[in-house]
Amino acid sequence: MAVPVIEADLCTGCETCVALCPDVFEMQGELAVVTNPDKCDSCDCQEAADTCPSEAIIFE
Ligand code: SF4
Repeated sequence: MAVPVIEADLCTGCETCVALCPDVFEMQGELAVVTNPDKCDSCDCQEAADTCPSEAIIFE
């Protein structure tokens, strides 16, 4: 199953993904990171990816 990955060089730290999927994404300093890639069943990771203003969230 595809899991979300954040391309760190694209992330602007807007925190949108963390707001939508706090079980999956977390702020670490200025950037978001994927802490629990298997937790997309608890939220809509695709919505987070679609909403990310810099399209930094991909699925691998
Ligand atoms: S929504 Fe995109 S730009 Fe905003 S914090 Fe998450 S990965 Fe970074």
